[in-house]
Amino acid sequence: MDTSFQAPPLSIPEYILSSSGRTMPLLGFGTAVSPPVGPQVTKAAILEAIELGYRHFDTASLYGTEQPLGEAIVEAVSVGLIKSREELFITSKLWCSDAHGECVLPALHRSLENLRLEYLDLYLIHWPVSSKHGIYEFPIKQEDFLAMDFKAVWKAMEDCQRLGLTKSIGVSNFSCKKLADILAFSEIPPAVNQVELNPLWQQKKLREFCKANGILLTAYAPLGAQGTIWGSNRVLECEVLKKIAKEKGKSVAQICLRWGFEQGISILVKSFNRERMKSNLEIFNWSLSPDEVRMIDDIPQTRLCCGECYISEYGPFKTINELWDGEI
Ligand code: NAP
Repeated sequence: MDTSFQAPPLSIPEYILSSSGRTMPLLGFGTAVSPPVGPQVTKAAILEAIELGYRHFDTASLYGTEQPLGEAIVEAVSVGLIKSREELFITSKLWCSDAHGECVLPALHRSLENLRLEYLDLYLIHWPVSSKHGIYEFPIKQEDFLAMDFKAVWKAMEDCQRLGLTKSIGVSNFSCKKLADILAFSEIPPAVNQVELNPLWQQKKLREFCKANGILLTAYAPLGAQGTIWGSNRVLECEVLKKIAKEKGKSVAQICLRWGFEQGISILVKSFNRERMKSNLEIFNWSLSPDEVRMIDDIPQTRLCCGECYISEYGPFKTINELWDGEI
């Protein structure tokens, strides 16, 4: 890392989260890596990202990146890239085997210990399904899936926010129906729903639902997660996007990210390559024309990350259709 770097970091637009009034940078840095890399590689990439201006970092107990992220934060402060941890927005997620009322608080404490932090900015339920407690595995064995007790888990999430251990709480991979179920009994509504969202899977229905209910939708796999076990190259190879990118003198990735930004959602993008990290940030001083937006609107829709590994004949979701409540 070049610690002599002095240029002011790019400023990323922010959004005020409804349930806490805290601000969240609308473009964040993903740390789910596939195939996996060592913690030193992850830490170095995060330090470069902070240097380049990223301030929002997304991790999860599942990813194994909480520890390197925590180490990178300590080093970023010590070398003066940031003044304090307060300048960052850190999201982590509750894994399925801890998605039981009494396990939520201990799981958050473990994440905080890994991250060397006193609080998270956002804590999310990773998937709307539980698995046997004490068995930490991925993929989860078919016979280990359990239906989630949404009331008990959400109440424990609310307690985490009340205790100040996380500033906001939310969910991930929730359909409109599952969000409505949570909203029906929540005292603190979910601030965020983090889902796959890109020009090939635009989530129009979920976007409208979230907007109507003050929930910020956050896009994962905004580039289709090319090269990972859960994604594909279909977004970056989409002919419509390639045409727009060529005519505009931008990369396909920039078109995807700019489009997401213009849709009023927040975005997480992962790159551990310095040039791509940098170019992924360069989306805030230009815009798409109405024609370009219409062309993207017309792209045939297909979910890339279907969540097949959360389907089990023993669990609550026996089909993809049940997992997404028909939103496929
Ligand atoms: P993504 O950001 O759409 O794609 C990442 C892939 O694209 C990497 O292989 C990266 O490779 C490549 N890439 C990045 N920028 C590029 C560019 N400008 N041109 C070409 N290729 C580029 O997918 P993602 O990592 O799945 O999603 C982002 C984050 O969302 C994750 O890291 C994770 O934090 C979160 N996420 C959450 C869930 C969930 O269930 N809640 C699921 C998946 C992901 P290089 O590193 O080599 O550049």
